[in-house]
Amino acid sequence: MSRTRIVIVGAGFAGYRAARTLSRVARDRAEVVLLNPTDYFLYLPLLPQVASGVLEPRRVTVSLSGTLPRVRHVLGEAEGLDLEGRTVRYRDPEGTEGTLSYDRLVLAVGSVNKLLPVPGVTEHAHGFRGMPEALYLRDHVIRQTELAANDKDPARCTFVVVGAGYTGTEVAAHGKLFTDSLLRRHPDLEARWMLLDIAPRVLPELDERLSKTSHKVLRQRGVDVRTGTSVKEATAEGVYLDDGEFIDTRTLIWCVGVRPDPLVEATGRPLERGRLLVDPFLQVPGHPEVFACGDAAAVPDLANPGSYTPMTAQHAWRQGATAGRNVAASLGLGARKPYKHHDLGFTVDLGGVKAAANPLGLPLAGPPAAAVTRGYHLAAMPGNRIRVAADWLLDAVLPRQAVQLGLVRSWSVPLDTASPELARLPAPPREAPDDAAD
Ligand SMILES: Cc1cc2nc3c(=O)[nH]c(=O)nc-3n(C[C@H](O)[C@H](O)[C@H](O)COP(=O)(O)OP(=O)(O)OC[C@H]3O[C@@H](n4cnc5c(N)ncnc54)[C@H](O)[C@@H]3O)c2cc1C
Repeated sequence: MSRTRIVIVGAGFAGYRAARTLSRVARDRAEVVLLNPTDYFLYLPLLPQVASGVLEPRRVTVSLSGTLPRVRHVLGEAEGLDLEGRTVRYRDPEGTEGTLSYDRLVLAVGSVNKLLPVPGVTEHAHGFRGMPEALYLRDHVIRQTELAANDKDPARCTFVVVGAGYTGTEVAAHGKLFTDSLLRRHPDLEARWMLLDIAPRVLPELDERLSKTSHKVLRQRGVDVRTGTSVKEATAEGVYLDDGEFIDTRTLIWCVGVRPDPLVEATGRPLERGRLLVDPFLQVPGHPEVFACGDAAAVPDLANPGSYTPMTAQHAWRQGATAGRNVAASLGLGARKPYKHHDLGFTVDLGGVKAAANPLGLPLAGPPAAAVTRGYHLAAMPGNRIRVAADWLLDAVLPRQAVQLGLVRSWSVPLDTASPELARLPAPPREAPDDAAD
């Protein structure tokens, strides 16, 4: 007799947690299969620290096989779903197609870069949504400062970040510290970081006190924060702002937000602003065997009736646990429960001993906020805690290692990762300029 099979698509905050929960509560009843393009869970909130050389890249990755020994991991990317036939079609990293049949499906594919119809942005900007982008940015920033040391071109030392949500704010805050340290031996050069947002304040989606604290730190650090401002056009030489100003730059980092992974559209089920609509038990109406959670799902927010839970790691992680328990309940193991969670606060790491945090609504700034923020990340990470703490310690006492590894090229981190034609990256055209020349 074949065992019940639970397929989880996506091993981010929601999918990883669902797999971990199921491997504990349903291991004797079902085979748990986790489909993900990488062999690791990526702890996204610490990615700005990878891009700025504080943390080594592997620190923010947690091995799936090492931490989920009772889960079968399938390396690949889902390309199609057949809800009636109960199958997931996927492609492995070598291009081979495969099909997984399921009795229960958990969709936890997260989100992709949000694009806006601004001329030139798709061609000239890079997003910040995964490891390749963080590695690209780290190399690119080092390269620009090294080239500027010779040609003295101020455009190379000008870095424009669009979007002052937590990603853009942390990238700009850490980035400025990084370039200040890179340029220490070149007193004639100065790094200029700009952080733009159309909203009237930084961190517009968070508590106003977090915004004020973060804005103050950015200003003191010398980041040029422009609220109520956006980009009108991007070119190879720089960007035009909507007020007509031209900024000469070689670096445009696009952090305007995310949109749900387009795979959820393939279900053909109702969406709410691109997210797959589920009921409070995280089940897709009409398909009780299909569950969805995290950024890809529109989950009714029972703590704020009438709205959906925001796209945060905090919700995705907890929804993963609820999805896991409710899948088990659907197999007769325990009782299903609706998802309900009150926000516990937010933390924004601004680098050095600066941070902004409001644990349980208590506003904190400076070193106490930094201690809470880093303590929170250590507690929240499902692995690598000692390694992360060791990197923080080393960063506090040693200069940062500023070398380019050149592993990720500009063409391999397109902003529009969701386009079908870009999903499987082409080899670069032979005449394509090398990054060193871009
Ligand atoms: C740089 C950055 C910093 C952030 N900082 C914070 C923060 O400080 N606090 C906070 O609360 N939130 C933060 N967030 C947001 C938070 O990380 C997301 O809300 C959270 O990751 C959502 O979890 P998820 O499981 O839905 O998606 P993800 O964690 O993105 O995981 C999705 C997984 O699905 C996989 N996948 C995608 N498509 C497919 C496919 N077709 N087939 C198979 N697998 C697929 C992906 O590879 C990935 O492993 C940050 C986000 C970023 C990008």
